[in-house]
Amino acid sequence: MSVVVVGAGISGVTCAAELAARGLGVTVLERSHGPGGRLAVHRHRGRPADIGAAYLTVDDPEFDRQVRDWERRGLLREWTDTLAVFDGTTRGDDSTGPMRWAAPDGLRSLVADLVHGARLDIRTGTEVRAVGPGPVVDGEPCDAVVLALPDPQAARLLDPAGPAGAAVTGRAWNPVLALTLGFAARDRPDLRCAFVNDHPVLSLVADDGDRRGDGAPVLVAHSTGDVARARDADPAAAVPEMTAAVRELLGIGAEPEWTHVHRWRYAAPAAPHDRPFHLGDDGIGICGDAWGRPRVQTAWRSGLDLGRALAERLGA
Ligand SMILES: Cc1cc2nc3c(=O)[nH]c(=O)nc-3n(C[C@H](O)[C@H](O)[C@H](O)COP(=O)(O)OP(=O)(O)OC[C@H]3O[C@@H](n4cnc5c(N)ncnc54)[C@H](O)[C@@H]3O)c2cc1C
Repeated sequence: MSVVVVGAGISGVTCAAELAARGLGVTVLERSHGPGGRLAVHRHRGRPADIGAAYLTVDDPEFDRQVRDWERRGLLREWTDTLAVFDGTTRGDDSTGPMRWAAPDGLRSLVADLVHGARLDIRTGTEVRAVGPGPVVDGEPCDAVVLALPDPQAARLLDPAGPAGAAVTGRAWNPVLALTLGFAARDRPDLRCAFVNDHPVLSLVADDGDRRGDGAPVLVAHSTGDVARARDADPAAAVPEMTAAVRELLGIGAEPEWTHVHRWRYAAPAAPHDRPFHLGDDGIGICGDAWGRPRVQTAWRSGLDLGRALAERLGA
């Protein structure tokens, strides 16, 4: 039995690892240069900064076991349960909630660990263009295919009239620009991460040096959806307004020494699906963070659950 998994984000890699553990032959096809997807890092002079997910939270007992294993092996650590909250540019009371977990080497290292642990056959730099009945992936037949992608990216590969295409076509996703700012020295109020509400430019600012634990003077700011939409064609044009907004918000006098902006056209689904994954009679499955409350844990859970259901379907 051979299964093709399209997308090496945490959902695809978790699904592939489960299928491999059940003895199925699995190939993971990933269009970018490495696994991770939205658990992405930007490296500046070798130091990674998290430019996708800011952190992860855990309330699923099975995911908790995975998280504790990463913690035991030094890949993940408790970061903070308290976030600053800004209403516009005014700082209000801090908000205490669930523990936010961060990775010393960046969250992408968790996906790399899953790939390594399951010895997955992953082909990077491979963009899939069409998935059809059979199933067939870019003209090659297989026993089943898993699309572990944001809905609009999955929809592009599928016939909208088929069951898989119908599940993902026409679903709205929201964009974000992630701006990384490197300063000469740490010079900011004492906060680890801030939710920024009702601000025209920013939605979140994280202290990446605190998050990663090396104290580097690096911040990562997330834009509002409106700014990301307005700057979709030219994300670099958002750098001056985002930089000015971060400096004003945190009262930072110095200009950053360097900046980097990343466009997430599909950062998060506008509305989640009401089931944990899709698996049609045609052998086409779909998983990811849209299949539940959008976050890392959901992507992991969706990939695992689809892997289990598919393995059972294939008699493994
Ligand atoms: C800015 C931002 C902030 C976030 N903050 C948080 C947070 O604080 N906490 C939290 O829990 N979650 C957060 N998230 C969400 C979290 O990152 C996602 O839930 C999770 O990473 C999704 O994983 P996935 O595997 O479902 O999808 P993805 O990570 O998007 O993986 C899809 C993969 O498919 C690949 N691909 C796409 N098209 C093709 C193709 N045609 N052929 C081959 N490969 C293809 C992509 O390159 C990608 O690697 C955030 C996301 C963003 C963008």
